[in-house]
Amino acid sequence: MRKPFVAGNWKMNLTLASGGKLVDELVNRPEACFPGGPGKAEPPVKVAVCPPYPYLLPLKGRLDGSFVGLGAQNMYSEPSGAFTGEVSAEMLKDVGCTYVIIGHSECRHTIGRGEPDSLLNAKLKAALGAGLEPIFCIGEKIEQRDAGETANVLEQQLRAGLAGIDAEGAAKLVIAYEPVWAIGTGRNATPDQAQESHKFTRSLLGELYGQQVASVIPIQYGGSVKPENAGELMVQPDVDGALVGGASLKADSFAAIVAATARAKKLA
Ligand code: PEP
Repeated sequence: MRKPFVAGNWKMNLTLASGGKLVDELVNRPEACFPGGPGKAEPPVKVAVCPPYPYLLPLKGRLDGSFVGLGAQNMYSEPSGAFTGEVSAEMLKDVGCTYVIIGHSECRHTIGRGEPDSLLNAKLKAALGAGLEPIFCIGEKIEQRDAGETANVLEQQLRAGLAGIDAEGAAKLVIAYEPVWAIGTGRNATPDQAQESHKFTRSLLGELYGQQVASVIPIQYGGSVKPENAGELMVQPDVDGALVGGASLKADSFAAIVAATARAKKLA
């Protein structure tokens, strides 16, 4: 079965010094994440941090041999070439990333002219081709939710993003359901709203790839997850962890979310 997965998206925050301190606090105090105690070979929840590009390589050295994995926040779809300012999946792999976030709502809707579905689809294929595990973000805007369009938006984003990706590739994906109206706003989806969207997402994955593959793909919830609300969200049967923004910038709150996930899934 799928293992819960909690990833911290630092966005454009922290410094090498403060980010280094944060990861040191995480890796040196595994008992904060797993109250069962350190020394477990296989932690019950997968954990990763996604720092800004310049900090990936220096922080990789501090994460090596620990229970905390490394992910990037974005990448470009081409392997190399005249793409000033971009980084490739191969480069991320080269510096030790396991994961890469693709299609975060800030990349879809806020930064520059926004990333279209076709580009996200190409990025997902390139990430999988390089051996990365993509965290593919989907989610509706508030006006779409208010218009009763949530399921249509999720379906459209999933079908377009995953076009041409086979079941073998899909089994390596992580999906993050992140309602745009809940990101960085302090307003999280209710546990029922989250479960409804996650269940819909899993059933669509089942339609696309079959039940067996759909049952192994972790679906994270993202949007104002904090230690105080993590337990009630994570207890939902189709919520398999969290993509955490603001609360991942402090070791204590991030570790508390990991611990709440382990408790909610009865793994601690
Ligand atoms: C995010 O950046 O993916 C996110 C969910 O942010 P926050 O937790 O701050 O809402």
